[in-house]
Amino acid sequence: MFIVMKAGAGESEINLVSERIQQLGFHAEILDNGNRTSFEIINSIGSSDASLFENLAGVAEIVRVAKPYKLVSNFARSEKTIIKIGDSEIGGEELTIIGGVCAVENEEQVFSVAGTVKKSGAKFFRGGAFKPRTSPYAFQGLGEKGLKILAEVRARFDLHIVSEALDNEQIDLVEKYADVIQIGTRNMQNFSLLKRAGKSKLPVLLKRGMSATLEEFLLAAEYVMAEGNENVILCERGIRTFTDHSRNTLDLSIVPAIQKVSHLPIIVDPSHGTGKNYLVAPMARASVAAGADGLLIEIHPQPEKALSDGTQALLPEQYLVLVEQMRAIHQVLLPTRITEALS
Ligand code: PEP
Ligand code: MN
Repeated sequence: MFIVMKAGAGESEINLVSERIQQLGFHAEILDNGNRTSFEIINSIGSSDASLFENLAGVAEIVRVAKPYKLVSNFARSEKTIIKIGDSEIGGEELTIIGGVCAVENEEQVFSVAGTVKKSGAKFFRGGAFKPRTSPYAFQGLGEKGLKILAEVRARFDLHIVSEALDNEQIDLVEKYADVIQIGTRNMQNFSLLKRAGKSKLPVLLKRGMSATLEEFLLAAEYVMAEGNENVILCERGIRTFTDHSRNTLDLSIVPAIQKVSHLPIIVDPSHGTGKNYLVAPMARASVAAGADGLLIEIHPQPEKALSDGTQALLPEQYLVLVEQMRAIHQVLLPTRITEALS
């Protein structure tokens, strides 16, 4: 709910509204566009709240937000969120490429893929040290040892590190060694994990739950933002459908659909979204054409020996060709992206 003050409202009228908000136990953010002041009540509970404010002096109108999400919405922030990580940005004009391995297996595998990622000009390296595996008997990741290898990649290759945390304790560790915390599809509605990520100083890469609607996806991001962390990167990674020619169905229409209602950057993961090597490049190119802010892509020097997700891993040379193609498509679309961002 927004309390919009009249353009000429005086300080005493603004203070009165502010005091009433506090007395009622609400939490508000003050928005000042230079012309008029508005209050955004973060924890308002319903339409009856409006009557508590509408008759106060200086109040122009009460705007109720029909959508259940607020902070993630274009209504709360009209400019696109650009997340700064070191000298890199996510959500700006540049196409973000996050290349890397599914699981950190050993130094040799990770360093060779990091060399490829660096060569492609990408600024981000992904690698899982904690793996959410369907079977408890499958490789679960190297844990902290894997994170140390990733920290070594950061130091040697000057790449920003993205790594997944499955629980609150793992967030402590990921914070120690990485630059972006990944929350995977299976944890998109792990609300205590989302709240913990919301308290982190690191950006959060939030993957869409495999059966989540757009609204559920945005509400998960809202959990993170409501705790104070504004740096959320959304990631489409495919949803479960009846289709069996691919591991998941990559739902590319969610890219423009999210951009219509939210200021948050959205990237696409065609690796998990398709699960098949031959489908990754076409869908990666289509993701850029659909307006994605970036891509997350898994690579393996010997996919047949991979400890996880070998069937979807690109060979280093396939990845390098793909990056060139994606950049070319992105370049063609750049003028449109800039015009849309300004409108
Ligand atoms: C991953 O990125 O390695 C991963 C497990 O992805 P998802 O959560 O999308 O399955
Ligand atoms: Mn994987």
